Amino acid sequence: MDKIDAIIAENQDVWKTRSAFFSWIKGIIRKGWSKSPVRLKHLKKRAMRVPNTNPRSMKRFPFVNAYKCEICQQVFKQNEVEVDHILEETASLTSLDDVRSCVEKLLVVADSDLRILCKGCHRIVSLGQRLGVSFEEAKTEATIIDMLKNKAKVLAYLQEKGYTGVAINSEAKRRKLLRDILKGEK
Ligand SMILES: [Zn+2]
Repeated sequence: MDKIDAIIAENQDVWKTRSAFFSWIKGIIRKGWSKSPVRLKHLKKRAMRVPNTNPRSMKRFPFVNAYKCEICQQVFKQNEVEVDHILEETASLTSLDDVRSCVEKLLVVADSDLRILCKGCHRIVSLGQRLGVSFEEAKTEATIIDMLKNKAKVLAYLQEKGYTGVAINSEAKRRKLLRDILKGEK
């Protein structure tokens, strides 16, 4: 039993497992990233001023910041964008030895390592990195994940395509069918 195990044993109300303990440390590094001056300056430099369309605050703040997503090129409000680490694969942190590389990946970054993405594109990029697939493939996977959240709808959709009974009786089968259909439709 090392010191971390001892701390976990003493604080079972807070961390049930080592992985919960390390998620806590990773969360602190992530929080640090959200306050990084490099991140804030990256946003500030690219901020556009657009008319505020929120009726509750438009009188006080006639203009608000907006940002262009570097992938889809659409303009979004500040709370709809995220600053993406272009090269970041997942910065896993499951032991103290990982702390250094996690800090390097998340915090040791220059302006040119970053880009602004809308939440939708950022989700697809992250999914693609995790699965090791292209943006287009990750887009399909994201659509499948969203569709599978509504089982009744998926069943109706697949039945309409002519699949019934054992062909659609497990989530794995439905996932594979959805993937085949979505890829075929492109
Ligand atoms: Zn986008």
